Amino acid sequence: MTYDVLIVGYGPAGITAGIYAARKKLSVVLIGDLPGGEVRNSGDIENWPGDRTTDGNALADKMIAHLQDHADGVEVVQDKVAKITKDENTFTSLTESGKEFQSKTVIYTAGRHPRMLGVPGEEEHRNLGVTYCATCDAPLFGGKDVAVIGGGNTGAEAVIMLQKIASHIYLLHDTDKLNADPVLIANFENDPKVTILYNTQTTGITGEQLVSGLSYKNKATQEETTLAVEGIFVTIGANPNTEPVKDLIELNKFKAIPADRYAVTSVPGFFAAGDVTDIRDAQIVVAAGHGCSAALSAGDYISRLPK
Ligand SMILES: Cc1cc2nc3c(=O)[nH]c(=O)nc-3n(C[C@H](O)[C@H](O)[C@H](O)COP(=O)(O)OP(=O)(O)OC[C@H]3O[C@@H](n4cnc5c(N)ncnc54)[C@H](O)[C@@H]3O)c2cc1C
Repeated sequence: MTYDVLIVGYGPAGITAGIYAARKKLSVVLIGDLPGGEVRNSGDIENWPGDRTTDGNALADKMIAHLQDHADGVEVVQDKVAKITKDENTFTSLTESGKEFQSKTVIYTAGRHPRMLGVPGEEEHRNLGVTYCATCDAPLFGGKDVAVIGGGNTGAEAVIMLQKIASHIYLLHDTDKLNADPVLIANFENDPKVTILYNTQTTGITGEQLVSGLSYKNKATQEETTLAVEGIFVTIGANPNTEPVKDLIELNKFKAIPADRYAVTSVPGFFAAGDVTDIRDAQIVVAAGHGCSAALSAGDYISRLPK
């Protein structure tokens, strides 16, 4: 069978696309491995409208239950897509377990994964003081001493956000010059609340249950120092999950999929939404909205295909 829509990804963008496509009575298969996507790893969430505070697992469960209400319209396959190709007007998606699916359109919402430091204590303290998203979590660190790791634009934006919230901010960078735009650095370079530490290499994260310390080495002197901090913002980049489509579509320099606000890409019939795209704001509400647009765009595209 050739599905109208094949959705890759089981996060907020893919789930929302599934709900909208099912309500349009399109035939839909959704392939994904982590139900709920990064929402599962998000800890407390305070910016999903309608829920003042919710927990990532609870929100993911609610989204999945909503999608399952459309179970007659969406077939969910627990798997990963390994490669997508296009031939004339038909897409073929091959999964890691060897299954093959044909579809008229693809909505690609495979997300991105934050780059990790890879130091002892990081994994255990994820969401217990270690975070990869300042927009999401900065408000949780009111009056606390925190560290931001990575002096690019994302790190600088994290520092600016934290200036109004945290007590003191250490910005750790691995070379002797920040990569962020000077106009951003100007916001905090003379702020006594902000200490910039150059030539650092993070070596470990400590804390009984919650984070209480961060160790780093000065790369020039090899001297080890431990900072007493309760929050650690890791801002060293994120990798979009675009491997399966790297031969199908031209990616940008960050390996993200260029897509417009309607989720339209340069490949006809191939739509992309959420964190896997070049969208500016990696947020649940944005990904869900982009997923909605993707489904509506796919429906419009199908209605214009030759009959
Ligand atoms: C620690 C953390 C905390 C966060 N906190 C917040 C917050 O408080 N508020 C907020 O708004 N946002 C928060 N975010 C960001 C938010 O989680 C993301 O912006 C959102 O989940 C993006 O949705 P998405 O559907 O685009 O991608 P994702 O949620 O990443 O979902 C991608 C899906 O695709 C699947 N997938 C990947 N590769 C394949 C493949 N090859 N084949 C099939 N499926 C595949 C994944 O398993 C997953 O199901 C946080 C993110 C992190 C990492």
